Amino acid sequence: MNRSPLFMTDKGEDIQCELCPNNCRIKNGGFGACGVRGNKSGKGIIPFYGFVSAFAVDPIEKKPLYHFKPHSQILSLGFTGCNLRCPFCQNWHISQNTEICDQGHGRWMQPGEVISAALKHDTPSIAYTYSEPLVHAEYVLNCMALARKHGIANVLVTNGCVNKEAASIILKLTDAVNVDLKCFSAETYKNILGYKAENTLQAVLDFIRVCHEMDVHMEITTLVVPDLNNSQEELNAAAGYIASISEDIPWHLTAYHPDYRWNAPPTNPVFLRNAAKEAGKKLRYVHTGNI
Ligand code: SF4
Ligand code: SF4
Repeated sequence: MNRSPLFMTDKGEDIQCELCPNNCRIKNGGFGACGVRGNKSGKGIIPFYGFVSAFAVDPIEKKPLYHFKPHSQILSLGFTGCNLRCPFCQNWHISQNTEICDQGHGRWMQPGEVISAALKHDTPSIAYTYSEPLVHAEYVLNCMALARKHGIANVLVTNGCVNKEAASIILKLTDAVNVDLKCFSAETYKNILGYKAENTLQAVLDFIRVCHEMDVHMEITTLVVPDLNNSQEELNAAAGYIASISEDIPWHLTAYHPDYRWNAPPTNPVFLRNAAKEAGKKLRYVHTGNI
């Protein structure tokens, strides 16, 4: 089992990480924007390998996945850190706080222990979820490879914010994905959700396309956030993009409730239902959630 950091190369004393579009140049003693991939004395380090911040058995519909192994249970693992910093993050206490592992929360689990837990709970699949799993690519890949050997399906719940090379490696071991398409504005991704990277929206759109091309079951979720992404024009553009790949891709439009640093009032349920009806003109399966 390979625990060496992937997508990290030495650049003299710096480390260049090319896992996601943030493409961080990491100084000695520092970490990249995600807070989990660092540089110690000129070597790439992944000190949170095996740290599991949240662990639960959920109905698969909670991911949300409505069209993959319906009515089954799924073992769900969460991590720490994220390569985005969404101001409405519902899991901000783990996604924006890598110190959680020193605060008595969570546990350390080797990939073999994860598989044993799935077998014990008799769950046909494992979800890598809650905070962003892709920034823990090495651990997720090791768990996925072992899960496949035991006939357990791998489900990635992700922001899809990853470079193409990493996407294609991880998706080879992935059976189903729920991708967050957070908005359809490059500016919003760059200035509000991300760390100023220019091409984050494009990376997510490419991830969606690669998933489809690699025949991985995919559903897409958009949290409809007032004052951020709730113009009908932007929602139409997102629906149009999804439909241009396949009108059979399910789209979950979910309601936002104030959390973390975003205080706008909750999404209006009538607006959400109307937005779903509008999207239904382009897509076969549109679901509303969190209402
Ligand atoms: S934010 Fe992205 S590029 Fe930067 S260290 Fe984390 S995974 Fe690597
Ligand atoms: S991508 Fe997800 S986990 Fe990361 S900050 Fe945004 S909502 Fe939170």
